[in-house]
Amino acid sequence: MFMRIDRLQAELPQPKKPNPNAAAALQELLGGKYGEMSTLGNYMFQSFNFRNREKLKPFYGLVSTIFSEELGHVELVSHGVSMLNNGPGNPKEDVDISKAPFEEMQDVRLAGSFVSYGGGAAPVNSNSMSWNVDMVTTTGNLIMDLLHNFHLECGARLHKLRVYETLKEPTGREVCGYLLVRGSVHAHAYALALKKLTGVAIERMLPTPNIPLANIPECQKYLDEGSHRRLYRFGSPDYAEVAGVWSNDEVTCPAIRQARSKSSMARRTGAKWPILWATTAPSRPTTRRRKCSRSQRSCTRRAAEYSWGEARAHTPTTPAMAQQ
Ligand code: MN
Ligand code: MN
Repeated sequence: MFMRIDRLQAELPQPKKPNPNAAAALQELLGGKYGEMSTLGNYMFQSFNFRNREKLKPFYGLVSTIFSEELGHVELVSHGVSMLNNGPGNPKEDVDISKAPFEEMQDVRLAGSFVSYGGGAAPVNSNSMSWNVDMVTTTGNLIMDLLHNFHLECGARLHKLRVYETLKEPTGREVCGYLLVRGSVHAHAYALALKKLTGVAIERMLPTPNIPLANIPECQKYLDEGSHRRLYRFGSPDYAEVAGVWSNDEVTCPAIRQARSKSSMARRTGAKWPILWATTAPSRPTTRRRKCSRSQRSCTRRAAEYSWGEARAHTPTTPAMAQQ
């Protein structure tokens, strides 16, 4: 079963005005071939269909935990699309419907975003083509599926970069920045899983594509808070064995390491950067607040839901893990 938490995985800034064409670009990350509906659908059915779960527990855990995170990515992109379509505030109630109050919607790229979906998101791509089941691959062969997933994550990052490069609106750029960081974790996790199963050093193919996250301002706070080295279990003690997919001395993408080698957190912790950590949420919320970004002076976030207890793979010694 899945646990529901009433928040988005990233905070999205409100657009100053509606921008349906920006929303249309962001739709590619939702219903496109490499969009979140595809990663969700692939990992969801792969995890449901997974055979030999006991024998292959870490790999089952990997596909399963990433699948549930992808559901949150679908939610995040959908919110971004809706925010860009609608802009701030509520729809006006005193419009004169005889004066074509939405005349400009004739000229937006995805007229269906207004006509059919009422400003909401739908599982279609940036050209309003439907996402469909043909984008789901579940072969019944673990290595084949992991190869596919590795390709899917790498392709998804390429598409996110392209969408990012088309957008000026902070809302859509924030979605891209967050998902680029999370995608780097997923791509590397699948690479390490393939390495474990086959012995091939597939992680040496990373970063593919070579995206300089250091040049993307929206990525920085997520790198600072360590989002590029976590896999989420969202408070559940289950799936802890996913840590077995990597070892403590295995590092993530070299490009990220270079980008963040001088990061504030690395200096503070003296950590060898970056190391994938298995992560779990605290058993109950706290009210601690913390600064979230060196670049956003006034930005603090409630740490209640954000204070993920961290546990380095294979060394479950933190209080959060001890509670379990
Ligand atoms: Mn995703
Ligand atoms: Mn992913």
